[in-house]
Amino acid sequence: MTQAPPDPLLNAPQEAREFYERCARGELAVQRCSACGTLRHYPRPHCTRCLSSGYTWQGCSGRGTLYTFTVIRQNLNPRFRERLPYVVAVVELDEGVRMVTGLAGIDAAHVDVGMPVEVVFETEPDGRTVPRFRPAA
Ligand code: ZN
Repeated sequence: MTQAPPDPLLNAPQEAREFYERCARGELAVQRCSACGTLRHYPRPHCTRCLSSGYTWQGCSGRGTLYTFTVIRQNLNPRFRERLPYVVAVVELDEGVRMVTGLAGIDAAHVDVGMPVEVVFETEPDGRTVPRFRPAA
């Protein structure tokens, strides 16, 4: 008898579950504060500007620029060791929100600050669909 794999978001906050559910549908979205309109990412229960708990989701274009990055060359976790070297990036979305993410489809040696990027969705071994960014066409 086979068991269903564990839910990778079992203990995740509700806001994170909603974010990843949208990613699984191919939608990149950030939270918009219902009180002051501030956009925010990562998903969290309160506005970073006014602390309101009201929010809606705003779909994003999926386009932005590479704000900064670092190349990871060592990692003892087997899950990440297979990917070495890999890039951890901060992408500034066209909507003005910055997102810590990974890059796809580009060798670490060719990554440059300011490069235009666009979102791609990739499925992790645990079943989550996550946003990564590739050089924009
Ligand atoms: Zn607010």
